[in-house]
Amino acid sequence: MTEIPTHGAATRVVRGACPHDCPDTCALRITVVEGRAIKVQGDPEHPTTHGALCTKVSRYTERTYHAERVLHPLRRVGAKGEGRFERVSWEAALGEIAERLGAIAARDPEAIVPYSYAGTMGLLQGESMDRRFFHRLGASLLARTICSTAGGEALAATYGGKLGMHVEHFAESRLILVWGSNSIASNLHFWTYAQQAKRAGAKLICIDPRKTETADKCHQHIALLPGTDGALALGLMHELVVNDWLDQDYIERYTEGWPKLRARALEWPPERVAAVCGITAGEVRQLARDVGTTQPAAIRANYGLQRVHGGGNAVRLISILPCLTGAWRHRAGGFLLSSSGMIPADRAALQRPDLLGARRPRTINMVQIGDALLADSSPDFGPKIEAIVVYNSNPVAVAPDSARVARGFEREDLFTVVLEHFLTDTADHADIVLPATTQLEQLDVHGSYGHTSVLINEPAIAPQGEARPNTQIFRDLAARMGYTDPCFGDSDETLARQAFGSAVPFDALRERGWWQLPRREAPFAEGGFATASGRCMIDAPGLGVPDFVANHESAQSAPELARRYPLAMISPPARNFLNSSFVNVDSLRAMEGEPLVEMHADDAAARGLSDGQRVRVFNDRGHYECRLAVGARARRGVVNGLGVWWRKLGLSGTNVNQLTSQRLTDFGGGPTFYDCLVEVQACSDAA
Ligand code: SF4
Repeated sequence: MTEIPTHGAATRVVRGACPHDCPDTCALRITVVEGRAIKVQGDPEHPTTHGALCTKVSRYTERTYHAERVLHPLRRVGAKGEGRFERVSWEAALGEIAERLGAIAARDPEAIVPYSYAGTMGLLQGESMDRRFFHRLGASLLARTICSTAGGEALAATYGGKLGMHVEHFAESRLILVWGSNSIASNLHFWTYAQQAKRAGAKLICIDPRKTETADKCHQHIALLPGTDGALALGLMHELVVNDWLDQDYIERYTEGWPKLRARALEWPPERVAAVCGITAGEVRQLARDVGTTQPAAIRANYGLQRVHGGGNAVRLISILPCLTGAWRHRAGGFLLSSSGMIPADRAALQRPDLLGARRPRTINMVQIGDALLADSSPDFGPKIEAIVVYNSNPVAVAPDSARVARGFEREDLFTVVLEHFLTDTADHADIVLPATTQLEQLDVHGSYGHTSVLINEPAIAPQGEARPNTQIFRDLAARMGYTDPCFGDSDETLARQAFGSAVPFDALRERGWWQLPRREAPFAEGGFATASGRCMIDAPGLGVPDFVANHESAQSAPELARRYPLAMISPPARNFLNSSFVNVDSLRAMEGEPLVEMHADDAAARGLSDGQRVRVFNDRGHYECRLAVGARARRGVVNGLGVWWRKLGLSGTNVNQLTSQRLTDFGGGPTFYDCLVEVQACSDAA
């Protein structure tokens, strides 16, 4: 049953799924009256999200019916970045795109680059017909690295996949480390379970450079310096060894490589850890005592901690901790970063990489799109990028080193197509903008990276204006390009049935709105990791034993840079935004006020700065203007630039990514957004 029965004939309640990049993947109920969605609520019957939504998505109708929705195809009439367009027909827009892409492809299809990420997490609208189209075209491949690949590869090397605890079991934990996660803002339903544990007597400890809203509610906050999480994990291991808090039986039976890591950990006494992490040796000792002597003990990490040079090694080190203490023996013990490895998505069926044939196009790392767009043809790089098709992403705002990204998108010789709901910073640079449907107007199916059910999203209302789902747009483009492969004729329902194949009974999914996957309740109680040996690989093939890797930009690794830019900056999301989504929703932006950088009172006093002042945050890559918030959210030596504002809705057309770098993580090719040194000064034109 796709709809929930209601009493009023003109009222329908339709089952949906939140499409946003958040571990919770909430089940939705959309109330529709006479064809108009009037309410978006959580589905109380969904087992892990229980009907609660965050503020952002409870305002979803405001976003869908926003007066500035792009409702028709548009062609640029102004300069790139200016955002001036004329309305054109679908016929004209598709014809022009097919002609331009076709001409480039006739010379070299690798000069065309797709650019997409998790604007929707839906398997259909995010990664199905679009991939088929670009595979058939032979376009460059895109390494979709901008969020999680360092942590993902760390889990793959250590556990054999993105696997971990089941979120509801945190309610039974006696100790929870909330490590690099502002759960209240970005993992709400985990936080509900953590609060249950707290009420039952569990100790909650937040490990985060920022004193987040989540840290406020924990028993203890350990404010380490950005990028030093791996050193803290080594220090905990040191204390586990010297105090004999190890589960030797678990280590011997279910892990491989501990003796080498043990030797390394013994080089990290608490005093050394304290000096690197900017905390006290007492904090290291007490945390180790809590971890070593409490069962069941659980760690909830999130991806922020791996957005630094040593992010992959840090995740490996933290994920090994529960193997050393035997925490995995309990279902309420262990580690969770992502559970997406549980989702049986058949990506090959959806994306059809076989359409490439024998071709092996180059791969562009999306983190480095600024440099890629500005690069000339070369034997190493391949052909100069002549066209880019952007969907489910807003790279001019969210990609690092955004002044270079904007310069790349300003190239007059670049043909740019953007599929969007709004005229974002990126859409303003497009030659053609195509109106895409929102989640309320499209069919999709979803996995999750925070729980173990899959969901369906039924279209609740008709597409607004002339908007089309991404699947339809790429189907239409394929037809205009003359692609006759039968897979381009697959309907959205056919794609939805292909997404999980026989692993999920589609009709039951449709009937209920979600499907709970089979699972082991205590997944690694007796080993059974997804590695080749079935053991946790402390010494992993190709990576060896993990170690602390310092930030690219820190006083230790770059002292001259640190002298000029002595403040470490992290850029976690503002509570009412999700990456750059929702920034243009007036009620949510009103809650955020203006772009902020948070600073400790001592650092502000040392610079003669005061709360509420307009400031300039800068480094060699650029500058960012925002308001200064002086207070306890920032520790000494660290500033928090809350993101990600659209540049055109920020101050002086800037946002925090003017400052971040295109350098990559230790492995996984991930971004290093939180590995960034800056200085702050008053704005000369202070408002
Ligand atoms: S953003 Fe997260 S918490 Fe908010 S509705 Fe979506 S899945 Fe739920």
